[in-house]
Amino acid sequence: MAQSGKSTRMIWAGEDGLFSEGAITAPIYNSVAFGYEDMHQWFETALGKRQGHIYSRNTNPTVAVLEEKIRQLDGGEKATSFSTGMAAISNSLFALLTPGQRVVAIKDTYGGSNRMFIEFLPRIGVEVALCDTTDFDAIEAEVVKGCDLLYLESPTNPTLKVVDIERLANTAHAHQATVIVDNTFATPINQRPLSLGADLVVYSATKYLNGHSDVMGGLAVGNADLIDRIYHYREITGAALHPQSAYMIMRGMKTLALRIARHNENGQAVAAYLASHSKIEAVFYPGLADHPNHAIARQQMDGYGGMLSFAVKGGFDAAVTVLESLKLAHKAASLGSVGTLAGPPKTTSHVELSVEERAAAGIAEGLIRYSCGIEDTDDLLQDLEQALANVAL
Ligand SMILES: *Cc1c(COP(=O)(O)O)cnc(C)c1O
Repeated sequence: MAQSGKSTRMIWAGEDGLFSEGAITAPIYNSVAFGYEDMHQWFETALGKRQGHIYSRNTNPTVAVLEEKIRQLDGGEKATSFSTGMAAISNSLFALLTPGQRVVAIKDTYGGSNRMFIEFLPRIGVEVALCDTTDFDAIEAEVVKGCDLLYLESPTNPTLKVVDIERLANTAHAHQATVIVDNTFATPINQRPLSLGADLVVYSATKYLNGHSDVMGGLAVGNADLIDRIYHYREITGAALHPQSAYMIMRGMKTLALRIARHNENGQAVAAYLASHSKIEAVFYPGLADHPNHAIARQQMDGYGGMLSFAVKGGFDAAVTVLESLKLAHKAASLGSVGTLAGPPKTTSHVELSVEERAAAGIAEGLIRYSCGIEDTDDLLQDLEQALANVAL
């Protein structure tokens, strides 16, 4: 299986045997608890001396299949799951960090992760240094000053910056720091951070892994000792994944390789089209040859993904015209779905920031984040063409 191609692995990883009654797909165990006739067996299971399930806040057979699936796909020692991506991220940080420790992270993390760094970690006495995302020398300098945990995300939201994971993981390990990478945008199809040196990978399974905008979930995969500590925090604090959601995520993952191939194609085609359009000020996509970190992206990624952003000439009003003219895009939050999604970061991922803070983060008021779906490429290009025709310059 480890030698098989990506499409094959997506389907068979963790699901290569028969389930109860010969079922060929994982049964959804909608049971809160698991009963025992033999009190000795129950006791042994509760103590972890025997395989089995006790209570679904801790473990559940359906959820366990998904955990094994992502474990194999990312090449981790262990994996665990959560009710949302933010639960995966917050539980991992709270489980691993104690007062007095120091985190080095990048400025361009997902909005919710950024709130963890500026609001919740300082509250428990954890110091956080936020660095310019692509100034790798500056990140290394902060690690050298003292670092217990290095937190990275690549590519980033919404300006698609790319971080040199291998280089920074090496520096972090030389200083005994744990390295976490949010791999939500790339998925294991386009990037495998554990093979680049990360200790732990976190996902919002709400996005590409599920891929259909109909279920939320989070995953963490990597080093066994770290996952044990994170699992223990989650089993006590309670952000468990529902078995029905676990099933939906697994069902989505079976087509992940196919979907990502189309997302990659559409991302590249839309980015190239916009880059040559007279009404576009800037396009951010790691697959463009003039992207500042294109060389690193080419090295550490197998594909550049379906996420991009672009600034329309004419600022926020022009962006509003484009968005309201798009027919083949839901104007909604979230990303990574089969259907195209578009919106201004000003109202979604970076709504908490002031105009000045957005400017400092390089997020133009006229920026549109565009999550290419898996529609036919020509249809997306034509839709953008007619939408941009409505912008009067
Ligand atoms: C959406 C997202 C999250 C948070 O995931 P939820 O499932 O919404 O909690 C974290 N990181 C990235 C990169 C995301 O896009």
